[in-house]
Amino acid sequence: MTLRAVPPKSPDQPAEAAEVVLANAAGDAGVPMSVKIRERLLAARRRFHANDNIAEFVREGEIAALQDEVAGKLLGVLQSLVIDTDNDHNTRETARRVAKMYLQEVFKGRYEPAPSVTEFPNVERLNELMIVGPITVRSACSHHLCPIIGRLWIGVMPNEHSNLIGLSKYVRLADWIMSRPQIQEEAVTQIADLLQERMSPDGLAIVMEADHFCMAWRGVKDIDSKMVNSVMRGSFLKDPNLRREFLALLQKKNA
Ligand SMILES: [Zn+2]
Repeated sequence: MTLRAVPPKSPDQPAEAAEVVLANAAGDAGVPMSVKIRERLLAARRRFHANDNIAEFVREGEIAALQDEVAGKLLGVLQSLVIDTDNDHNTRETARRVAKMYLQEVFKGRYEPAPSVTEFPNVERLNELMIVGPITVRSACSHHLCPIIGRLWIGVMPNEHSNLIGLSKYVRLADWIMSRPQIQEEAVTQIADLLQERMSPDGLAIVMEADHFCMAWRGVKDIDSKMVNSVMRGSFLKDPNLRREFLALLQKKNA
């Protein structure tokens, strides 16, 4: 809410005419939605990097307003690129389309809460290495907003106290993390942290192999380079045999 003191109109006006008025009835209409959300994040001292989730700071119905704001800014980008968005039938709706794509598709993992995943207790007391993958992952790099398309493998070493999750839930959780502007090294860590928190396994191994279109489409234009990242936790870190077993199984699946 913005308060503004209205100065007296003329020196002969009585001082009490100086009144304090609300900037407007709603208190903050006209303030861009992104500014309101950013203020909440700053007040809560929460980080809002490109690959952070900010769902708890976005209220019901605000995504539509945010999307309108982004569309307006994207239209400005097209105009600055000297593209005639008024007469070019191909780009007339591009700003709106891209804003929708960002907010509701490719970056929705920033704005939506985590998918609901039911964890169930390990009643069978499974303690064998489980491997899930390859899961296709799609993202965009934080540096250029160019696509990243890759494959993800997850190795889990449960203990009797671990929670288990359904196979399809790994896909949904990974997609939630990847549907943000990402950096592959940070994405694998975020996926590991999320699974660690949900499942509390003895060991966790994450391997991601991805094509980065910012390498293929621009820059060095190297279309064959892939980036591979891994995170090993718990028993995968301590037990070289377990780590070898996991990596050998991946290679077999890859062959
Ligand atoms: Zn890039």
